[in-house]
Amino acid sequence: MLSKEEFFKTGEIVNLAEAAVHEELQALIDRAEIEFCQCDKCLFDIACVVLNTIPSLYSSSIADRTYPSAEFKADYEKLKKLAAVEIPQAIERIRDRLHH
Ligand SMILES: [Zn+2]
Repeated sequence: MLSKEEFFKTGEIVNLAEAAVHEELQALIDRAEIEFCQCDKCLFDIACVVLNTIPSLYSSSIADRTYPSAEFKADYEKLKKLAAVEIPQAIERIRDRLHH
């Protein structure tokens, strides 16, 4: 079996919750509705708070990701909606303890 570093570095295992959070965070920034620090450190913090809150959606099949089933697509859309709700809450939570 591959070492832990090699195992995960293959990129075969993907948590689509990460993509959902990134997509929704970018959408929120583009809408410019909420004012908050958008440096990498703060965005990493926000992403971690949200990722610890919403369920993960792991996939080890590039075929599933390239040609997702209706069920897979629905799961991803559900995660995006959850992320959209959780991101503003995460921003409020970390606002008072910024790292810079
Ligand atoms: Zn910042």
